[in-house]
Order: sequence, then C-alpha cells, then structure tokens
Amino acid sequence: MTTYSDLSPYVYAAETIPPGANALNIGWLGGDNDFPEGDVPEGFLDSFILLARDHSSARMRGWHACSLPHENGKPSYPYRAEADGAWIALGAAEVRVYSAGGELLIAPDLAYHYVKYHKYLPPQKFIEAVLARRISFGVN
Ligand SMILES: [Zn+2]
Repeated sequence: MTTYSDLSPYVYAAETIPPGANALNIGWLGGDNDFPEGDVPEGFLDSFILLARDHSSARMRGWHACSLPHENGKPSYPYRAEADGAWIALGAAEVRVYSAGGELLIAPDLAYHYVKYHKYLPPQKFIEAVLARRISFGVN
C-alpha cells in the first residue's frame, strides 16, 4: 500500500472526493516509514471500528495487508477485527470523518490495526472527529 504523511493532501481516490472538500490523509502507514506512537483515548478504537463497519468509503477489490514489522508473526489476511460482536475484514476500504474545522480526514480502515497493534497515534483532530463520529459537516 502506498504510504502518505499524516495531513498531506489526499490523492489516492481523488475522484471520490466531494467538490471543494479539503481532503487530507491520515494513517497511511507502511514499510520503514516512521510514525507517531502513543495512547489513544478510551473509546477511540470502538468508535473507529463502528465507522469502518457502518460508514466505509471507497471500497476496493481485494485486501491490503499491513506491511509494518510484526514480532510475533504476521496477522491474519485479510485482517479481521471485532465490531460490536461481529467480525469484519479490514484493508479494502476507508474511513472518512470531518474535523471540527471541516477538513475531510481520510484513513484506510487498517488504521484500526495500526493503532491497536503498532501503537500508531493519529493526529488529535482525527481522534476528535472519530470520537464525535462526524461523518458529515455543515448543512445536510
Ligand atoms: Zn501490522
């Protein structure tokens, strides 16, 4: 999977971006690239996985696998995570949320694994948007 720096302009599936949206990358990790590590707030992973289950975007064919190093063997492929009692496969879609300032923040759904297993710490504005489950912005 291509890697992008957090908060860089989103270009991966640019044709899927609403006109005028300021779309930014979050959590496109892989290979040997460094990324911030830390603890996310209580509830972040639960909110994220429900967004991945109920509001995934830009679904692709086939699954991406995590390309970061794993000390205890590779995770399942496709990677599966539990969402409120049901298991879902991750690696083929995105989670899109709006920051409080109206930016469209776009993460691969595998970011769940990056946070849970690799201790990836996403930008604060993304954490806030996921906890708020802000999947639209402004007037609907
Ligand atoms: Zn991994």
